[in-house]
Amino acid sequence: MSRLPCKSFVAGPAGATFAVAGLSMPDPRHRRPNHVEIDLGSVTRRVVSLRHRVGRRVRIFAALKADGYGFGTLPMAQAALAGGADALALIDRAEALMLRQARIDVPILLYAGSPIDAEAVAAAESRRLVLTVLNERQIDVIALHARAPVELAIKVEVGAERIGVLPDELLAMAQRIARQRMLSLEVVNAHPTFGDNAPDSVVQAQFQRFTEAIGHLQAAGLPLPTRLFASSKTLARSAGMELDAIDPGQFLFADTTDRPIIRSLRTVLTQVRDVTRDFAPDYAPFDLAKVRRVGVVPFGKVDGGGFCHTDAVLVRGRRAPILGAPSLEYMRLDLSAIDDADEGDDVVLIGRQGPAQISLAEVCAGRGATPSDIAMALGPAVLRQY
Ligand SMILES: *Cc1c(COP(=O)(O)O)cnc(C)c1O
Repeated sequence: MSRLPCKSFVAGPAGATFAVAGLSMPDPRHRRPNHVEIDLGSVTRRVVSLRHRVGRRVRIFAALKADGYGFGTLPMAQAALAGGADALALIDRAEALMLRQARIDVPILLYAGSPIDAEAVAAAESRRLVLTVLNERQIDVIALHARAPVELAIKVEVGAERIGVLPDELLAMAQRIARQRMLSLEVVNAHPTFGDNAPDSVVQAQFQRFTEAIGHLQAAGLPLPTRLFASSKTLARSAGMELDAIDPGQFLFADTTDRPIIRSLRTVLTQVRDVTRDFAPDYAPFDLAKVRRVGVVPFGKVDGGGFCHTDAVLVRGRRAPILGAPSLEYMRLDLSAIDDADEGDDVVLIGRQGPAQISLAEVCAGRGATPSDIAMALGPAVLRQY
């Protein structure tokens, strides 16, 4: 089983199901031996490097949606804060409440998603969450229920054609908030969106839509909110759009070379056997003429099989090709060239084994994926080790 000394957790839904039932998790050693080793220092370093770049005056919100982009909300929050992040941004209110339980007390911005109702207001008041509003009706709902100050955010839709408030609706909404004693507009943000092949002018146009909309607030004499525009793509593309705050997500996990966020993804060789098939060769799951020995690992589609690896894994320091498609809970390996492979051997999907290595960069390049795509594709039963 695992020889790593670190603590293990079961991620997101699997862990949550037990917690909701009031049950404690069974010892992870009872689980299938699939482990991903996550380097918290990778995230901390990314935040430190951002801080160097943007200086002390720009606030860094670490965007940690989707269970911290698959790496775990709480450990990612701790890693980002250790690097000097000032605040967090999440989609899910339940995750924000969990972070408060874990005594994380920095500001938390909630992007739009959860319903705006009496529960949202109560949570925002008591746990100091910044709620995103999408229309004047939501402002009225919050004003109706607020018994204590509630901080609000407005997301301006600048180009994704997705969720948000159109630039020319911003002023009226800000005015409506300003009329409410308990409410304040703390943040105006955007999530600029563009393809890698889009010219810089497309980014610039979105920035302009944003800053013009904010300019109307200023002209109307309203208090100026924190202006938050740049997230990962913008930061990677152009400087000078940092304004008061930035909210990168993907960027925090994107190091695949210097200090990769995923140090290893491993399983164990569960069965090894010779191929003896003597019927219907054309319908065999692999070429019988080439493969005389197969291995099976308990890492299947439900765990991220088919995506979270390259076309081979490491066994005994050598590359064993993956054979055919994964089933729900298993994958086959071609062990024809690794005669000494044995049941119980460590199998590395990402990482080092002796002198051999399958790097995170190689896996990401092969899939056209980012590290967070890989992490989000890992199933909940893959144990996260930090
Ligand atoms: C996800 C999200 C971000 C962060 O996105 P990245 O592209 O991962 O940096 C920022 N703002 C909003 C509104 C988001 O939904």
